[in-house]
Amino acid sequence: MKKKILLVEDEKTLAKALKFNLEKEGFSVVTTFDGEEALRAMPAEKPDLVILDLMLPKINGFEVCRSIRRNSDVPIIMLTARDEDIDKILGLELGADDYMTKPFNVRELLARIRAILRRTVSQAKVGAQFIKAGDLQIDSLKRKVTIKGRRIALTAREYALLVFLASNPGKVYSREQLLKEIWGENYKGDVRTVDVHIRHLREKVEEFPADPGLILTVWGIGYKFREV
Ligand code: CA
Repeated sequence: MKKKILLVEDEKTLAKALKFNLEKEGFSVVTTFDGEEALRAMPAEKPDLVILDLMLPKINGFEVCRSIRRNSDVPIIMLTARDEDIDKILGLELGADDYMTKPFNVRELLARIRAILRRTVSQAKVGAQFIKAGDLQIDSLKRKVTIKGRRIALTAREYALLVFLASNPGKVYSREQLLKEIWGENYKGDVRTVDVHIRHLREKVEEFPADPGLILTVWGIGYKFREV
């Protein structure tokens, strides 16, 4: 079955070019041109992935992203014209999975989309269905993370990072290794991205994020998940 992408982009020429390229790659594409239209399309279309421009008429991309995240952990790739927005985009309050800075290469966008969708699929095949560590429980079949039975909302990227680390407790990974494992070989971003995601993950799953008990820093090397 074709994967469905919701494209939210008010620049008509760019939207048209993206739709053309995505369809050529075998995706089905629903295009919306402002934030209001995008939020209306979400429940009706149930996309597999959202490409969301930041600067939009009516409701901007930040608000659209925040609003989508309230009900859904669908992968979101944000399009932005400025590098400075990155921290906020990948941040806790927005929780987008990735971003592209305009102008960008369509090939690169397609690679990112494929990487995210591939990860979403392969997550269903993670060895053990249940991973438990203290109050944290991961049900990889239901893609559900709970702390003391309370469900925690994670972005696709945060989830992948958590499952990867928790599946290999005690094993130390460098930022470069994590970037390669979770973001893929072709990811051009720098290792700071890993730190940002670890920080947000800790804020969501750790009882004391500043003194983490699950995702541990190994100074000078990288990160590891606590050994059970
Ligand atoms: Ca725009």
